[in-house]
Amino acid sequence: MPTTYDLVVRGATLIDGTGAPGAIGDLAVRDDTIVAVGNVPPGDTGREINGAGRILAPGFIDIHTHSDRTLFVDPTAESKIRMGITTEVFGNCGLSPTPCFGALLEEERRQWAKIGLQPTFGTMGEYLDRLTDNGVGLNVRALIGHAAIRKAVMGYDQRAPDAAELKAMCRHMAETMEGGGAGMSFGGITTPGTCAEIPELVEISREVARADGIVSVHLRNERERILEAMDEWFTAARETGARIQFSHHKAASPRVWGITAKTLAAIDQANADGFEVDLDQYPYGASSVGLHAMLPHWAFDGGPAALRARLTNPADRKRILDDLRGPNPSGNGSGIGPDKVMAATCLTDPSIEGKTLAELGAERGADPYETLLDLLLANELDIGGIYFTMSEDDIKAIMRHPRMMVGSDSYSQVIGGRSQQSKPHPRNYGAFARVLGHYTRDEGVLTWEEAIERMTSRPARKLRLHDRGTLAVGNKADLALFDPARVRDRATFADPDHYSEGFELVVVNGRIALDGDRMTGTLAGSVLR
Ligand SMILES: [Zn+2]
Repeated sequence: MPTTYDLVVRGATLIDGTGAPGAIGDLAVRDDTIVAVGNVPPGDTGREINGAGRILAPGFIDIHTHSDRTLFVDPTAESKIRMGITTEVFGNCGLSPTPCFGALLEEERRQWAKIGLQPTFGTMGEYLDRLTDNGVGLNVRALIGHAAIRKAVMGYDQRAPDAAELKAMCRHMAETMEGGGAGMSFGGITTPGTCAEIPELVEISREVARADGIVSVHLRNERERILEAMDEWFTAARETGARIQFSHHKAASPRVWGITAKTLAAIDQANADGFEVDLDQYPYGASSVGLHAMLPHWAFDGGPAALRARLTNPADRKRILDDLRGPNPSGNGSGIGPDKVMAATCLTDPSIEGKTLAELGAERGADPYETLLDLLLANELDIGGIYFTMSEDDIKAIMRHPRMMVGSDSYSQVIGGRSQQSKPHPRNYGAFARVLGHYTRDEGVLTWEEAIERMTSRPARKLRLHDRGTLAVGNKADLALFDPARVRDRATFADPDHYSEGFELVVVNGRIALDGDRMTGTLAGSVLR
């Protein structure tokens, strides 16, 4: 005789993800499905959990991530599970491991080698098959990167595609959607996204729109020209019907603090005009992208070898330094000084991690920007970077916006596993817990119901996940139970490798991934297509 329920949580405050007020009640699960919500009569139950004093929410959906590789080496995704995340969307900011051909294949071979693997796939469909075979601890959706498509077809050329190349890129995009991809991401501050113009982006977006996918956009500019950078995607939405998601929305320079009043109004206007435009955000005042992104775009023409040559050639080097020191540097970090840019993960020289460019220069008795170029050359151009650029007022204004979804912009990690990198941005471990603990409980920026809606039903709607994102009978049993008094992020910029606290039960497709303080190791996630 089978039990009536496999799992029942009793007496928790149920916050169902829709934004409706929480209420005390029970929830029951059988197999991978929620089968009762509200008052669950006593019955034959595999496992009962007392939820008194706790909040029970739908498992969180992390709509902006970069776990494309780390899930293969550490599939339990502990950093995510320990902040209640049960689904994530990777392949953002123009970056993805597919289509794994041409120049991208070369680049991916180097990247995967760092975690002891090699790519054994070409298309999105093949990649998702490998991930399914490998097993994964949470549900995943994958985007394909525009930069990845461009590298596969055109290498590192900084020019518009010809007709045949554009056709080939659109074919990769269509093949991705057929293979189960969620859409396309664009990366506007790193090459070759920097050299793509509107006609190219419109044609590729058309393929995404045809399959009802999403277009996630790391804008070309998050500073003085942010409104212009948003405009080109309103054009793409108008011409193709593509559903847009602005990534990690921010005002990334003290010179434009406050401009979020205008950017958020523009998003409201686009939606009022009948287009679907949403945004995601991580709850920190600093962004993260490799330090190479500080260099002017022209320096990347021809790929990494050409860049290295320019960093040693005196005339080019001077031109790069003039740009970095000038009043309007063209790369990332414009508008902030070298004391606001910090070296993050650097596998080849961990001694520089956690130090600002100003400090690194002072240590060497050298100019901070000269030091930057020397360090890039000495470390295979591969140094993580953290940029302290944002204001709290902007962060809170964006967080309150009704179209905001929480996205960590991180990759999953397991401390002690091969996915652990020495000094990542703390968002890898703390983003969702920080929205709940710091911004919701301590600062009162959102109510619990609002915060949870931005982590559950809203991203589920964006992703067309019809059976996730709310506590409703018939939905997949993805659940997060946490203590509202204790939930908090513990990862800091100086000392990031700490999991979040306060989560006591996390369930993925009906199976317990986090049980009290213990990871069960279950790989119950689905590769969603
Ligand atoms: Zn990005």
